[in-house]
Amino acid sequence: MKPVDKGPGGGSIGGGPNKKNGKSKCALCDKPVVEKYSPFCSKHCADVDLGRWLKGQYAVPATLGGAEGTAEDEE
Ligand SMILES: [Zn+2]
Repeated sequence: MKPVDKGPGGGSIGGGPNKKNGKSKCALCDKPVVEKYSPFCSKHCADVDLGRWLKGQYAVPATLGGAEGTAEDEE
C-alpha cells in the first residue's frame, strides 16, 4: 500500500508581480521609478508634478477680450 499523502495542495507561493522593471524612469528627473510613487521616483517628484498640474488648472488664462466697455449708465 502506498500512503498517498497529499498536502493541503497548491504549489503557488505568494501571488503578485514580482518582476523588476528597471526601464521605467521618473517623469520628472529620469531617475529609476519607485513603484510606490510610480510613475515618479519619489514623493517629491510626485508632489512637484501634482503641484504643476494643479497650478495649471488654476492658471488658466481667463483673459477674454470681450468685456470691453462696461455698459454702465450713471447719471
Ligand atoms: Zn524624480
